[in-house]
Amino acid sequence: MKMDKLVIASRNKHKIVEMQQMLSPLGIEVLSTQDFPDLEEVVEDRPTLKGNALKKARYVSAETGLPALSDDTGLEVEALNGDPGVYSARYAGPSATYEDNILKLMDKLEGKEDRNARFRTIVALVDKEREFTFEGICTGKIIGEQRGSEGFGYDPVFLPEGYEKTFAELDGLTKNKISHRGKAVENFVKFLKEM
Ligand code: IMP
Repeated sequence: MKMDKLVIASRNKHKIVEMQQMLSPLGIEVLSTQDFPDLEEVVEDRPTLKGNALKKARYVSAETGLPALSDDTGLEVEALNGDPGVYSARYAGPSATYEDNILKLMDKLEGKEDRNARFRTIVALVDKEREFTFEGICTGKIIGEQRGSEGFGYDPVFLPEGYEKTFAELDGLTKNKISHRGKAVENFVKFLKEM
């Protein structure tokens, strides 16, 4: 499938930078919602990552007339039966900061031996005629302290499997190579090349 231009349907600067880093080398002009100031914020009210990802990409594609690529991500913690999952952004309440969410997570895991967790991303591509979704998963552990200052969200407490550094201690390129979002975008790119 040939794609010269797409819009990243996200207002999260960190996500936009990560996705631009991965897609720009392919010769795709990568715009974002910041290039379309009249777009409204999409309420992420669907019960699944896929539902939210499709909702964001459908809106942005319909409004801009361009293919739109969105991402919805959740942190799924084994000892918490998959929570916070689709509610990761609002774990500690509707206007929670990254720090509030991390503190709530650490509180919930206090004294628990099972620290296994995974990030799961669904990337959705929507254009005028078609819709596709791609998944990426990164497994790891939640540690009991915050380490590092790179990245965003739960990065300071997430130790990806096979690494001694948290996502917030790894540089952006390394994170992209192994992360949930990196893998979902990789699946999207593979699909573009195969089509
Ligand atoms: P969203 O709904 O896809 O924007 O993501 C939900 C929440 O998951 C965000 O507010 C972040 O707290 C967290 N999150 C998403 N992606 C990452 C990541 O790559 N690292 C750490 N936290 C993330």
